[in-house]
Amino acid sequence: MSTLTTLPPGPAAKPVRETPQIPKTLEVNFASANGVGLDVPVLTRAQPILPSVNYHLWEPCNMKCRFCFAQFKDVRNTILPKGHQPKEQAIEVVESLAAHGFDKITYVGGEPTLCPWLSELIGHGHQLGMTTMIVTNGSRITEEFLNRVNGSLDWLTLSIDSAKPDTLAGSGRSVGGKPMTPDRYIQLADQVRASGIRLKVNSVVHGLNWQENMVDFISRVGPERWKLFQAMPVKGQNDRTIDDLLITPEQFAHFVRINRRIEEFNVVLCPEPNDLMRGSYVMVDPAGRFFDSTTGTHTYSQPILRVGVTAALNEVSVLEDRFDQRGGYYDWRGKPNAPMTAEVQPLIASLQ
Ligand code: SF4
Repeated sequence: MSTLTTLPPGPAAKPVRETPQIPKTLEVNFASANGVGLDVPVLTRAQPILPSVNYHLWEPCNMKCRFCFAQFKDVRNTILPKGHQPKEQAIEVVESLAAHGFDKITYVGGEPTLCPWLSELIGHGHQLGMTTMIVTNGSRITEEFLNRVNGSLDWLTLSIDSAKPDTLAGSGRSVGGKPMTPDRYIQLADQVRASGIRLKVNSVVHGLNWQENMVDFISRVGPERWKLFQAMPVKGQNDRTIDDLLITPEQFAHFVRINRRIEEFNVVLCPEPNDLMRGSYVMVDPAGRFFDSTTGTHTYSQPILRVGVTAALNEVSVLEDRFDQRGGYYDWRGKPNAPMTAEVQPLIASLQ
């Protein structure tokens, strides 16, 4: 991989929760990323290059989104028949990431709520001083789950691509062919916010929804942040199913343009076209290895628990500039930005 920079070891786990000191001045090596001709700084260094990490702890999922770039069938077919590590190893991975200095951990899948020990992993991340987040399709979120993670889960991200059940079903975002309804998403969002857990929404923009104006719906859901991903092909993950869902950069820009009005509701809009997505995340796979997709397919490091975080991290490419450009640096521990729901906004406007 790229040239390494010699750095001191990462800091010890932080028992005290405080506003993160996000590293903005880093030594970088300007190089081509794995020969794909990326004219941006490539960082592969023995320090948390970025302050946040996504842990894809669970390969199984109850939905079948055709654009999904986190299917990990390759992992399951090669080294991890069950699609996940045993609980004890997953906990060790979380401890290793915290000890290395990551400040925010996002538990992802597959569908992470299928993991019976998810709440324990969230609790560990919290106890070790990290901001905790999950990304979920929402189908298995219950009051009981929200009560269980109350006090240890900081953020919940709901994956919602459309307010139209037919569109959801057409893309595969459904359980046994049955998509969730807009009302159910809204009810769920209300429950999450009422639990004191901060809310984000992720949407994949693809061939079936790129012309959809979702402002009214998302304003009612009421997330603080709304992240938009351009449907992205990843060899070995979704290349057999995504073709008719791929869109051009112009189509993605169109979706962003017609939904930009969400900002009037105090929702932070975070668009991520394909070129900002690749290489801008630190990601761990269900087998406990770092991976990146800068070459258009997943490249995996050696297991973290075998070689340690530093050595494993040095085997993948992370592009700090892209993390910055996609809005990766934000104050996740800061005060909530109190999104206005569609019901509240007209009231506020009438008072002004
Ligand atoms: S719900 Fe998420 S993990 Fe499951 S198939 Fe869809 S995108 Fe992939």
